[in-house]
Amino acid sequence: MSDLLSVDDLVVEHRSPGRPIVRAVAGASLKVGPGEVVGLVGESGCGKSTLARAVCGLNPVTEGSITFQGQPVTPLGLRRRKLTGIQMVFQDPYASLNPRRRVGDQIADGLRTAGDTTTSPADLLDRVGLPREFAGRHPHEFSGGQRQRIAIARALAARPRLLIGDEPISALDASAQAQVATLMRDLAVDSGAGLLFISHDLSVVRLIADRIAVMYLGRIVEVGRTAEVWDDPKHPYTQALLRAIPKPDGMGVLPAELAGDVPDPADPPRGCRFHPRCPLAMDVCRDKEPDFGPVACWLHEPT
Ligand code: SF4
Repeated sequence: MSDLLSVDDLVVEHRSPGRPIVRAVAGASLKVGPGEVVGLVGESGCGKSTLARAVCGLNPVTEGSITFQGQPVTPLGLRRRKLTGIQMVFQDPYASLNPRRRVGDQIADGLRTAGDTTTSPADLLDRVGLPREFAGRHPHEFSGGQRQRIAIARALAARPRLLIGDEPISALDASAQAQVATLMRDLAVDSGAGLLFISHDLSVVRLIADRIAVMYLGRIVEVGRTAEVWDDPKHPYTQALLRAIPKPDGMGVLPAELAGDVPDPADPPRGCRFHPRCPLAMDVCRDKEPDFGPVACWLHEPT
């Protein structure tokens, strides 16, 4: 499968006056193919959203590169961003919709961007499982799950080749989470688009993703087919995340924190970034960063 999106050794730094530079993304690599669903998981603050925003051209790239359909992604103004073929669905569906405009008008913006004169906003509401007559209503008239479906309809209207969900289900109640995640997967795959689905909920990612990438402190520490990562996680961090999921129903979320403190991204540990929390840490882990994949751990160094 050729790559739709290729993120290579990406570094994104946050700089503010009088404060240390924070490397929110510190050398991350990731690929998404057409019609492929990649789940990006990790604890809050690990850099997932910063990576997603860089892919959309919302965060400038400090080092490394992002290519989409073979073209480099660079920071864009709002108008050009709509034309890139990348659409993002955000965590808070209410904040991402204009409260004063009817939802049909907001969906129509995307159709105009795509030059689509045959599809109606009601058609798109139909595709996301909402009644067509909802097009004439305002965002406050809907539940959180319905609003997120509307946000997805609006994103689809622009005919994206890559859909990014940045924690799109974390503000929804449990019953809506799997439905909205599955809907995003089905709509992306049916249209041949790629989906980068970011979540701290590993159990939902398992339901929809072809591959899982695990991020820790700005770096991808493990990537692999979903079943392989789920059944046989290799990186000690991935193993800890999976152990933290409540049993026996297999559903659950990542813990707020694992044992030990999450290191400061402005002053990451030398060597393996996970070593202060890793029960298997060796001398080499404190000295040298395991700078390889698919499992960035000295216990799994490629031969
Ligand atoms: Fe643990 Fe060492 Fe592997 Fe890092 S490299 S995860 S410290 S065993």
